[in-house]
Amino acid sequence: MSGYAELSREELEALHGELLGRYEAFKAKGLRLDMSRGKPAADQFDLVSGLLDTVTSQSSTRAEDGADCRNYGDFDGIPECKKIFCDMLGVAPEELFVCGNSSLSVMYDAIGKMMLLGVRPGAKPWRYLDKVKFLCPAPGYDRHFAITELYGIEMIPIEMTPDGPDMDTVERLVGSDPSIKGIWCVPKYSNPQGITYSDETVRRFARMKTAADDFMIMWDNAYAVHDLYPDRRDTLLNILDECKKAGDPDRVMIFASTSKISYAGAGIAVFACSEAVMKRMKELLSFQTIGFDKLNMLRHARYFEDLDGVMRHMDKQAELLRPKFAAVLDAFDRELAGKGIAEWLAPNGGYFISLDVMDGCAGRVVRLCKEAGVVLTGAGATYPYKKDPRDRNIRVAPTYPTVPELEQAVELLCISVQLAAVEKLLAA
Ligand code: PMP
Repeated sequence: MSGYAELSREELEALHGELLGRYEAFKAKGLRLDMSRGKPAADQFDLVSGLLDTVTSQSSTRAEDGADCRNYGDFDGIPECKKIFCDMLGVAPEELFVCGNSSLSVMYDAIGKMMLLGVRPGAKPWRYLDKVKFLCPAPGYDRHFAITELYGIEMIPIEMTPDGPDMDTVERLVGSDPSIKGIWCVPKYSNPQGITYSDETVRRFARMKTAADDFMIMWDNAYAVHDLYPDRRDTLLNILDECKKAGDPDRVMIFASTSKISYAGAGIAVFACSEAVMKRMKELLSFQTIGFDKLNMLRHARYFEDLDGVMRHMDKQAELLRPKFAAVLDAFDRELAGKGIAEWLAPNGGYFISLDVMDGCAGRVVRLCKEAGVVLTGAGATYPYKKDPRDRNIRVAPTYPTVPELEQAVELLCISVQLAAVEKLLAA
């Protein structure tokens, strides 16, 4: 079929009638499906059911270094758990801290510390400054943007390219404005586009001149091991190594968690950074807690054993996720390709598929789906202040529904995308 923009008014009206018929038929089915968040499905948890049996009332609660995980101690985490994450992120044990159950709360806390107390050596807390700004590659993760908005940090959207954020703009802005204090990054299988930053992008982050001497890259490597295809794994350059080479290792904090490896909200979160930033973080954290949950660290370390164990598990998880991603991408190819009304990327990993519909149509599409029983992530959610300047981005989260549910939901989504586009063209 030719692009919708080339269709005559009569052809568009005929198409509208046909699409409306399909839409109404869907509505009559009374679907009830929530696809608003990227939640794991229960079958993913079943893959790690043995995790809960690794520490029982009969087993030893001692870590490798002899620490009793029931007691205080090993402030920065037990060694066998640290080892897994050090291998995953390519950092040394001195550069890694194992926290509680949520990387988001670690990021929230890190920003809070930068605001209130200062984290980089010598940094003046940002609360004393008239203006603090953050760069926000968009589309991006809504909860990052929510944290910076909460603290009154002004957010500047940065366009994404297939290689990561538009680095020409990033370099220009951070080089000239000292009130720009940081940037949010999801560098591997980004939320929502599934883009992995190129080596060149990572190097430019490490080398760029920043007008602020306390600039912080919030490197949220949430999808570090979330490959969908074992024969097609994206690779990400080690940012901490690159920053060391470029002479400023203190400019990055790396975050990760097992929320989408083991249990969402009941896994383990970590952060990694230079030894100097770690020293400051430990000092501040020591006011906050005497220690995090080492029994959960022990459970995870005993279950996975090492990074290979994690990778083997993730390959099994990918088997469950591949058909779900395929269901969405096949429907997009079938229903939307070649019509000039939508664009998307097929990611090699991560948790989302990002769909760009015709300008000015995302809100309408999300509403149409909702009225027919399928709740998607709100339009605009993937942009700072929930304002998508072109009202076109929709985040699709395929992991939670079953494949048959997903097929239904995506068909409805595709009908809605076409319907909104035809409405727009008819109104023009
Ligand atoms: N970062 C990104 C990019 C995410 O998509 C998510 C959602 N899983 C999180 C962080 C939150 O992770 P956690 O459960 O560790 O707080």
